[in-house]
Amino acid sequence: MRTTYLVGNWKMHYAPADTRTFLARFLSRIGTVTAGREIVFCPPALSLESALEAVKSTPVSVGAQNVHHKESGAYTGEISAPMLQSMGVKYGIVGHSERRQYFGESDVLVNQKAVALLNCDITPIICVGETLEQREAGEAQVIVRQQVEAAVAGMDITRLIIAYEPVWAIGTGKTATPADAQEVHDVIRDTLRSLGDSQRVPILYGGSVKPENIDSLMAQPDIDGALVGGASLEVESFLRICQYN
Ligand code: 13P
Repeated sequence: MRTTYLVGNWKMHYAPADTRTFLARFLSRIGTVTAGREIVFCPPALSLESALEAVKSTPVSVGAQNVHHKESGAYTGEISAPMLQSMGVKYGIVGHSERRQYFGESDVLVNQKAVALLNCDITPIICVGETLEQREAGEAQVIVRQQVEAAVAGMDITRLIIAYEPVWAIGTGKTATPADAQEVHDVIRDTLRSLGDSQRVPILYGGSVKPENIDSLMAQPDIDGALVGGASLEVESFLRICQYN
């Protein structure tokens, strides 16, 4: 049995004060939802400390949205994996399509960032996914396979989480159908098969996940959780997602 992950990626939302307010409300309502489910919030770097303080002594965890691949040095504005580790951050998102698209991150860099996290015992959440043009050209599976192979090169795959986020589904309100998502998740697991015990790798779906579609997504055999953007910014919506049936 794989652990289920419900991960909120807040992107560029919620400064420390908003983070404290949100998490106080969320945690007061969470009850026993966490049994067998790992709930993770990934706030902006500036709010990591507030989030870590708020979730202390609760079953909820905190992740970073990005990391630099070097341990230290003259890299103005960047944050290293050892810094995240020293704060108690447990997860780190790498390869998000927004980082690939707006910040020019390549497959090679995604791999280097994931290695940097693993070296600090932080679990990488490696994002992959095709664009609309690639899907329409029938290339979705080939692209995702290539991204996964490049991102996980040289790593112990049982220490990773993969997130399939079709670019055309992010922030658009368009969700992949559960069957379409399952098809790609199956391709991802197949890609990992030659590299280790692929059955142990959690594969999350992301892209317009909301209370209305979480149950049918989670019913798929290879969907082990969700990476949630917009709907993780509202306490009620994210609570409902964490309470999926
Ligand atoms: P939305 O849930 O807002 O579509 O964002 C998905 C995402 O990019 C999570 O990382």
